[in-house]
Amino acid sequence: MTTTPPAPSAATGAAVKAADRAHVFHSWSAQGLIDPLPVAGAEGSYFWDYDGNRYLDFSSQLVNTNIGHQHPKVVAAVQEQAAKLCTIAPGFAVDVRSEAARLIAERTPGDLDKIFFTNGGAEAVENAVRMARLHTGRAKVLSAYRSYHGATAAAINLTGDPRRWPSDTASAGVVHFWGPFLYRSPFHAENEAQECERALAHLEATLAFEGPQTVAAIILETIPGTAGIMVPPPGYLAGVREICDRHGIVFILDEVMAGFGRTGHWFAADHFGVTPDLLTFAKGVNSGYVPLGGVAISAEIAATFETRPYPGGLTYSGHPLACASAVATINAMAEERIVENAAEIGETVIGPALRAMAERHPSVGEVRGLGAFWAVELVRNKETREPLVPYNASGADNAPMAEFAAACKRGGLWPFVNMNRTHVVPACTVTAAEAEKGLAILDTALETADAHTV
Ligand code: PLP
Repeated sequence: MTTTPPAPSAATGAAVKAADRAHVFHSWSAQGLIDPLPVAGAEGSYFWDYDGNRYLDFSSQLVNTNIGHQHPKVVAAVQEQAAKLCTIAPGFAVDVRSEAARLIAERTPGDLDKIFFTNGGAEAVENAVRMARLHTGRAKVLSAYRSYHGATAAAINLTGDPRRWPSDTASAGVVHFWGPFLYRSPFHAENEAQECERALAHLEATLAFEGPQTVAAIILETIPGTAGIMVPPPGYLAGVREICDRHGIVFILDEVMAGFGRTGHWFAADHFGVTPDLLTFAKGVNSGYVPLGGVAISAEIAATFETRPYPGGLTYSGHPLACASAVATINAMAEERIVENAAEIGETVIGPALRAMAERHPSVGEVRGLGAFWAVELVRNKETREPLVPYNASGADNAPMAEFAAACKRGGLWPFVNMNRTHVVPACTVTAAEAEKGLAILDTALETADAHTV
């Protein structure tokens, strides 16, 4: 295992970047406007480039490296599995796949005891929706504005953020509604109890107008992640559960980002004592070392497909290398108390430090989160809560956020920046010393944002 950064070689870095720009078509990007950092290696909470710069990874990449980079037990498990059996079609029974399913089922809430494996999060959402439609015989699915569910056909239509609009060609059957978010309350609520009550009444009204007997599923991120780490008020998810039960609607919780330790519990649903009918996961299940996701299925929905075939699955579903990395990840998380570490770091280090920054910095409108899952909402004006950059800003309009990100990187911190927010989402293995170091860099970088306040 590499423990020190490779010798700096700017020339190699430049060659890697030139080859990338010649042939790699990047996701979510205008190809001519990007400048990807050539990465030479990574370990634990850090990754580094070819120029000798080390970055403390406060993004966990796309909030997936919950166990940190290059965990030796996971790397070894993938190598061992590769030597034993690289690939086998989904229809066979394989030790490592069964073991991954068992370990996941043991940790998911309630009776979510059957696991359907996919290659990532969006595909998990696609299949959860398909299962719900087949189970109920109904077509419509309700999802929230300010959400992200993935970039494939159904998942992008369910997504409630602006990235959906350019490819929004087939949203038939998808209805969006507003979830709770007190800081920018769609319901003009003054406190959490009011926000909860009004959000549930709004959902009931939406359902009544759509006809609950036409609705197959309601899908929610347990804690919406990409859209701003908005922890729902107490009682909201239990209220949605009750509404679903009353109308025979399948309740899908999307835990692709919030699951597997990120929030300081194995699943974010555990904070609220709520069990969905279907739970989607990916990312943290194996920290993204090999593509893997899936759907955890309740006994009732699984029973629908006991004698009726389930029409879904891909060539690589439940891939042995991916399952081996999941088994090693879950075991390491349990052995090394990584979920507990995320909870403690959030409570004792990240939360207090961010709250102190909110007091000191005029640009910090609100901080919120739990575990290793926090958002810092930047504003031009604390009173009016006007966002530091306009909604979905680009180019010159986005300059204050770009300056902030550049200041973090100069200090050796890789931030997760989205719209007017920075998310503090380090590995769940992050130490107190590393978290404190990153937070100090963030604190200094926030001065660039303060300069744009009015
Ligand atoms: N659902 C949620 C909540 C997510 O955060 C994401 C990705 O960020 C997805 C689904 C899509 O996952 P993937 O990119 O693995 O397809």
